[in-house]
Amino acid sequence: MGKFLYSWRFYSFGREQYQECMSKIFSTNLLNLRLTSQLFSILTAIFAFFPIVFEHNLIKAGIYLFAALVGIVISFFSNYLMQLINVSSKVIFFMIALFYVDVMVFSTYLDVWASQGPIAVIFPCFLICSLLMFIIPPHFNLCLTLIAIFIFVGSAFFNKPVDVLIYFVVNSLIAGLISLFFSWHIIKLRLGLEISTNMLEEERNKYVDQSITDELTQLRNRRDFMQTFQRYLSNFRSSDDYLCIAIADIDFFKYYNDHYGHPKGDDCLRAVGATLNSLRDDMGIYTARVGGEEFAALWFEKDVSHVDAVISHWAGKINGLKIPHEKSKVASFVSMSIGAYVSRCGSYQETQILYDLADKALYKAKGGGRNCAIICGDEIKEYKITPKEE
Ligand code: GH3
Ligand code: MG
Ligand code: MG
Repeated sequence: MGKFLYSWRFYSFGREQYQECMSKIFSTNLLNLRLTSQLFSILTAIFAFFPIVFEHNLIKAGIYLFAALVGIVISFFSNYLMQLINVSSKVIFFMIALFYVDVMVFSTYLDVWASQGPIAVIFPCFLICSLLMFIIPPHFNLCLTLIAIFIFVGSAFFNKPVDVLIYFVVNSLIAGLISLFFSWHIIKLRLGLEISTNMLEEERNKYVDQSITDELTQLRNRRDFMQTFQRYLSNFRSSDDYLCIAIADIDFFKYYNDHYGHPKGDDCLRAVGATLNSLRDDMGIYTARVGGEEFAALWFEKDVSHVDAVISHWAGKINGLKIPHEKSKVASFVSMSIGAYVSRCGSYQETQILYDLADKALYKAKGGGRNCAIICGDEIKEYKITPKEE
């Protein structure tokens, strides 16, 4: 029994997924609820003319008008509250929903009282349930529908003549059951839709991630690097900071592959990739793999003198990995040569120009002995740094 209730409550989607979807449905429906609330207020106000014109019943008309007025006030007040104070949307949501249950049940009660016809029961019962099934969780809907049925049936027992009582109770129960059946299935459909939308979104994110990530090193790939670079140039055109681009290349990597084999070469690239990924976390700089054993970084500096601290940290960390490289002519471990170019934001519009300038600096670092970095820029004199191990 417990299992049945559990699976009914969460519609066999699982607790977390169910709650996540319901909270989404809650928030997306708040606006709809407020609009529905206003619409029903207007309809209730229009309805007030019937008792005045046909029944000359001013009390009934007054109740309709009062309900309409309260509905409109609550709807606008909730709108106002949401803009002013950070009131939980769920509180407002419940306030309006409960008000409408009240209005509907009360109007139904009056209507049934006046006409004594079965249509009067079926119609509002459907109305309440169909209104609520779009806006509240299914188990609340069940409770409220049962309460509505209970009120109809209860009022019939006290106020209806015996000959119409059975007819009336059966109608109430059928209307309630039909609305429960529909609400059950509509909520289930809505949850299913929400879940499949979530799954599609996750799938989409997965593919987007795959299209910008380098599989071997888990760094961003060349395509993402070029797009990010272009975005940096365009979006930070008016910034006072300096934009730094650095390109790094592993020294004598061909010899490494030849000596240790391609799989070991891949392991080395993975280790370098992990280090560059950690650099992003440590210093907030953007890093990517832009070629076979070539990597690039982008970051902003307020002070140009801080650039070599970043480069030293980077190269020092690679040296600190101490990946043996017997065939390297510059160190006993795997090392990198780095070229960096520093320019004020807004000085260049084209990525290729800056990329080539940094590449030229890398070329100089290779020519200047490798395992070193050449830093140059528009406002700084070219200089060389040799990294320490970290
Ligand atoms: P330099 O110091 O001048 O940069 O010399 P180098 O040997 O590093 O440069 P070169 O461009 O001659 O060789 C790069 C090597 O990188 C060649 C290629 O086999 C290797 N490589 C490129 N991509 C990969 C990869 O994904 N995995 C492995 N294992 N090796 C790769
Ligand atoms: Mg190389
Ligand atoms: Mg290379």
